Amino acid sequence: MNRLFLSPPHMSGKEQEYIAEVFESNYIAPLGAFVNKFEESVKAYTGTSNALALSSATAGLHLALRVLGIGKDDVVLASTFTFIGSVSSILYQEATPVFIDSDESWNLSPELLKKSIKELAVKPKALILTHLYGQMAKIDEIVAICKEEGIYLIEDAAESLGASYEGQQSGTFGDFGVYSFNGNKILTTSGGGMLVSNNQEWIEKSMFLSTQAREPFLHYEHKEYGYNYRMSNVLAAIGVAQMEVLSQRVERKREIFEFYKEQLAEVEEILFMPEVEHSCGNRWLTTLTFEKTDPLKVIEALEKVDAESRPLWKPMHMQELFKDSQTFVDGTSEEMFNRGLCLPSPTKSTNRELMRVVEAIKSVCS
Ligand SMILES: *Cc1c(COP(=O)(O)O)cnc(C)c1O
Repeated sequence: MNRLFLSPPHMSGKEQEYIAEVFESNYIAPLGAFVNKFEESVKAYTGTSNALALSSATAGLHLALRVLGIGKDDVVLASTFTFIGSVSSILYQEATPVFIDSDESWNLSPELLKKSIKELAVKPKALILTHLYGQMAKIDEIVAICKEEGIYLIEDAAESLGASYEGQQSGTFGDFGVYSFNGNKILTTSGGGMLVSNNQEWIEKSMFLSTQAREPFLHYEHKEYGYNYRMSNVLAAIGVAQMEVLSQRVERKREIFEFYKEQLAEVEEILFMPEVEHSCGNRWLTTLTFEKTDPLKVIEALEKVDAESRPLWKPMHMQELFKDSQTFVDGTSEEMFNRGLCLPSPTKSTNRELMRVVEAIKSVCS
């Protein structure tokens, strides 16, 4: 039996050809033509006007905060129902995170967002909004609130490359957006990220900071410090090949979701992650909650058929690391964490293989 992983890499077949070109040109590092091509392909697909290829999405979020001038004691609002990489940059900048819960969309609640702005003693500088598991948050409402309140919006689209709302791609609504090309995302360069913005100056400043903040002199001159965050040309070659199949990957991820949904329709206690009206998520992972059955029992049953599954993200406000952080939560994400599961969603799999997952779930659920 082939182990069914959550979201393993799925190469297009062109990657090695492009890597060979990199080797022939000897532009192994640091930069080279493929870094530009990769940025161009992300710009073309998402419709954003500026893109910067980086070593990770976490690096992109860090640069966004730095460029927006967010520093010590500034308040940054964030989705609590997310992965740590979404919010660790707030700590890098010694700013103060405030966590906001989800609503029935599983994504950030616009109501709790409004409440937090109203009740906080200081005005927040920015919001880091996650589009969870590749499904769009209520982006139109959230954009409107941020605009009205003068709060920068940074979209953590690490999981949602290819998702859209009314035809507009995730990551392009805010002041900054960030995509991840880490090993388990919908596309991968083995590790990498892309920072996007419609503000050219901000992306230029991000580029400067991502390459050690070198002043434009022949010798090494520094007025401020930067980071070593740029992507290598070898990995960008993988990215160019991966971008060519993004539409196909989204299509298959959505098929996998529909397959699970149909096959498990008779299991009444199961609720799948919804899709906000007018949006089209990439269904990076098929995720669901069980009303009665303990998810750990389901994980056990899936292990027996060699299928990987995981609990949903443990909300940030439940983490020891953030035990002293201020929160605006109502128990929604905590409940989902206790009841939820991510199912194997490999784009390479066949529906026949996925039947193993369906049958194992049916065997333990009522
Ligand atoms: C994966 C992920 C990140 C971090 O991406 P890296 O490229 O691994 O740094 C950030 N936020 C979310 C929501 C993620 O899923």
